[in-house]
Amino acid sequence: MWERFDPAEYATIGAFLRDPKKVWEMLAEMIGVLACASPNPAHFGLAELESMGILRSVITQNVDGLHQAAGSRKVIEFHGNPGELVCISCWKRYPSLETIARGIPPRCDCGEILKPDIVFFGEPIPWGAQEESQVEARSCRVLIVAGTSAQVAPACDIPRIAKEHGAFIIEINPEETSLTRTVTDMHFRESASTVIPALAGEARKY
Ligand code: ZN
Repeated sequence: MWERFDPAEYATIGAFLRDPKKVWEMLAEMIGVLACASPNPAHFGLAELESMGILRSVITQNVDGLHQAAGSRKVIEFHGNPGELVCISCWKRYPSLETIARGIPPRCDCGEILKPDIVFFGEPIPWGAQEESQVEARSCRVLIVAGTSAQVAPACDIPRIAKEHGAFIIEINPEETSLTRTVTDMHFRESASTVIPALAGEARKY
């Protein structure tokens, strides 16, 4: 979708507040696409590792809810979740799909615009998610970095924090990232959908 919608025009909080109707045209499409998406083998592999007691939590930059759909229980959503809308004035919350169905831009009972509960560029990361992910990073023995370009701060700091506290860093990415030569201990140059189910398969043998 970012080939059709310039993130500078559609994904910043400033753009949203300036022209909510325009940004809501993109958001409504995005929420519709996400509602039809389903988990891939990497999502299911992570859920299985968690159910085996090997994986403690998932920290995600995704806003699609697919980790939970695959069965992951402890999911820290760094960039929120568009399943709910929040009033920008009184913070009242509404379920996304049925509220959007009544027309865009969706409005609160108080008359103000509703915003999906996701983090736009220019907005702070939800405090709870930051706090929880830092605790996890400081205390884990192994951290797997998968499917991220590791470019968006502060999420990309988490592997560095884990490394500073003694964790072993496994990176799964077909490309090199800024972490590969500085933080990563072991790099699988393949997609998460290939490597994570394989890790779960190995773990199943023990
Ligand atoms: Zn309101």
